[in-house]
Amino acid sequence: MSEPTEFNDPGLMDKIVSLAKRRGFVFPSAEIYGGFRSTYDYGPLGVLMLRNVKNAWWRSMVQYRDDVVGLDAAILSPPAVWEASGHLGNFSDPMVDCRSCKERHRADHIGDTCPNCGSKDLTEARDFQLMFKTHAGPVENDGSVAYLRPETAQGMFINFLNVQTTTRKKPPFGIAQIGKSFRNEITPGNFVFRTREFEQMEMEFFVPPEEATTWYEYWIKARYEWYLDLGMPSERLRLRPHDADELSHYSAGTTDVEFAFPWGWGELEGIANRTDYDLKAHEAASGTKLQYFDQANDTWYTPYVIEPAAGATRTMMAFLIAAFQEDEIGGEARSVLRLDWRLAPYQVAVLPLSKKDELEPTAREVLASLQPHFQCDYDVTQSIGRRYRRQDEVGTPWCVTIDFDSLEDRCVTVRDRDTTEQVRVPIDGLVAELISRTKKA
Ligand code: ATP
Repeated sequence: MSEPTEFNDPGLMDKIVSLAKRRGFVFPSAEIYGGFRSTYDYGPLGVLMLRNVKNAWWRSMVQYRDDVVGLDAAILSPPAVWEASGHLGNFSDPMVDCRSCKERHRADHIGDTCPNCGSKDLTEARDFQLMFKTHAGPVENDGSVAYLRPETAQGMFINFLNVQTTTRKKPPFGIAQIGKSFRNEITPGNFVFRTREFEQMEMEFFVPPEEATTWYEYWIKARYEWYLDLGMPSERLRLRPHDADELSHYSAGTTDVEFAFPWGWGELEGIANRTDYDLKAHEAASGTKLQYFDQANDTWYTPYVIEPAAGATRTMMAFLIAAFQEDEIGGEARSVLRLDWRLAPYQVAVLPLSKKDELEPTAREVLASLQPHFQCDYDVTQSIGRRYRRQDEVGTPWCVTIDFDSLEDRCVTVRDRDTTEQVRVPIDGLVAELISRTKKA
């Protein structure tokens, strides 16, 4: 189990889960039917924040590079893919059942007592296949078996040739993908940390074999810095190289980026040197040559693959936890999410001081001027103090208040979430002012 850290906080998860539900980040799935264990729906604010996490990843991995291209491969896939990848043979966890309370646990996650009821009456460990199996088409027989992908990575390997020939990229180059993956986890839990349906952000970087170590080190550093750049405190992050006996069957080296969750260290992302394992396995199984012709040396070779593989949903949760703070403003308790503006669900909230009709046209004009640049909220209900606190609680970095003076002087008040400082800004210069704050933030 994960070792404790200075950030261990038994009460924090309840606060995060309650905030997530109350403010529309994450809802338990199928709640009106009593819920569906360990599946979640992302609500109006959650969908914005999750999209921001994925966009931040895509920008750094694809948009800002000329050596990485994107892909969106199918989720449903034939058994041949998973036979070749090793998932049908290896992708299983040892599980034990408690004979007393009937709970099922991962054998490598528990000692010799049931964490649910304390009984020592456990079954022997048995392997449990983690892939979701289904049938494609109207007939349910062995010939129609299909699997929901348990990772996005294989989509990149089986499309290596398609992507390489259509883009004419030469190693080193990468293929990036964001999408849903499915694992029939034995012990899902800790909110969205481990769920059976989740989203991954993975990139397969194909390199000449002799450059693999250099690129492995490069991606470990680049990925670690990505979290810091988005405001993750360095004290809550660590890099943990895997011990030799922990490495996956395909890996010549793996380093995890770990986050100090309220219950201890947990993985956010793994960076692995997958060698030429995957391309060779698919070449052997499919009969399609998955190699690169190096014209300079007049030789074919199988590239090595360096893979940074992160979880989008798990990472969003880590950013929520890291940003959550309780402080006091003028003697009053407030809860605030100190999220980087790029991750906050709303960057700006437009708040007419009163519900009176006179303010609405100017407030709507301000809103319309901001919407091309920022995701905005528009809120007219309750006192301005309460509205500020509601925005603090969901991490909105800037509130813009329109008052009766605004109708005369064409200025609005901009309030900063973190300092609570308020300044008057001309409506005509508002977009430029807020854009300049994003550069400073
Ligand atoms: P774990 O050891 O936690 O089961 P893993 O090492 O099997 O994870 P990978 O296969 O490397 O995970 O997947 C890459 C990333 O996908 C993980 O670092 C994690 O962020 C995310 N991930 C994996 N499984 C889940 C899950 N069941 N729920 C949410 N995110 C997940």
